[in-house]
Amino acid sequence: MKVDFHLHLEEGPYSMGFVEKTLKAMAYFEESKEKTHTKEWLLDAINRMQTRLKHGEFSKLWLDFYLQEALNKGLKQVGIVDHLYRFKETKAYFEKYIDLESVEVGRKQAEWLEQVMVSELHDFVNLINSAKKEWAEKGVKLKLGIEADYFVGGEQELAAILDKYEFDYIIGSVHFYNGWGFDNPDLQHKFNDFDLNELYTNHFETVKHAAASGLFDFIAHLDNIKAFNHRPSEENLLPLYQDVAATLARHDVATEVNPGLYYRYPVKEMCPSPMFLKVLLQEGVKFTTSSDAHFPNDIGIYNDNILEQLTENGLTEIATFSERTRIMKSIENNTKSREIIHLE
Ligand SMILES: [Zn+2]
Ligand SMILES: [Zn+2]
Repeated sequence: MKVDFHLHLEEGPYSMGFVEKTLKAMAYFEESKEKTHTKEWLLDAINRMQTRLKHGEFSKLWLDFYLQEALNKGLKQVGIVDHLYRFKETKAYFEKYIDLESVEVGRKQAEWLEQVMVSELHDFVNLINSAKKEWAEKGVKLKLGIEADYFVGGEQELAAILDKYEFDYIIGSVHFYNGWGFDNPDLQHKFNDFDLNELYTNHFETVKHAAASGLFDFIAHLDNIKAFNHRPSEENLLPLYQDVAATLARHDVATEVNPGLYYRYPVKEMCPSPMFLKVLLQEGVKFTTSSDAHFPNDIGIYNDNILEQLTENGLTEIATFSERTRIMKSIENNTKSREIIHLE
């Protein structure tokens, strides 16, 4: 069965890059053969962008593209998340745990938070819940998830935010190191301030705390700290990999194969690394598959490669999630649907 349990509807900052990617995503679903970069094209593109922004990311207009691509790729279950930091009601939580004050990192992160924290959680929840029936009728189970940033010591505050809604599953993510967002391209020079072995040891400590917290159904992109290629030798990391794997197994928390860094970051490697993947599988850690797509044309991306990688390593089942319960599904019956199906 093909599933994608980690994908997003939108994410700022609202740069020209965002405009370009949004237009590209919409063009992917339109059969128009028109020439680009003519004056007519530009006028039309501006109109399309305006319509998209007016409807917003929590709209049928935008969500239908995701359904269409789920059908194109033969996905049977799709879980949509979105980052917790997009939602205004989480402001106090992020203000407490990320650096918004230091001259260098803090100022940039304060600016970033203002750019990305623009939505309301209930709008997201209502959209996904209201679309479940239509998706099911078309043969795709739609699930409501959330990608929640985990901070050591912030467990109760996080639980209080999440308890207000009935999610199908909650992803725990570590994107910050002592308040510094280490996957932010504008702040990557900070890697030079650390001893990498120490950095990785501490990062994996946080990952282990997340796994032990009991808050999450799966932990995302376990080794995303490698995003910009700052990584000690993996031989040094092996004991840490084993420790993380044992912790996930002990607390019965799953993880994912996530290609986000493979197609969007300099490291060009999926999470976890091939060596880490083997260690996790040896420990019996459960896996789901994801795309970490931020646009509808990317959902299910590399899903066939990921399933092949997992099967080669002896895995026969993948994890799906519904009403906070993990349900294992056989990888077989992997229908490779290549034809484009257009919705009415
Ligand atoms: Zn993430
Ligand atoms: Zn994500």
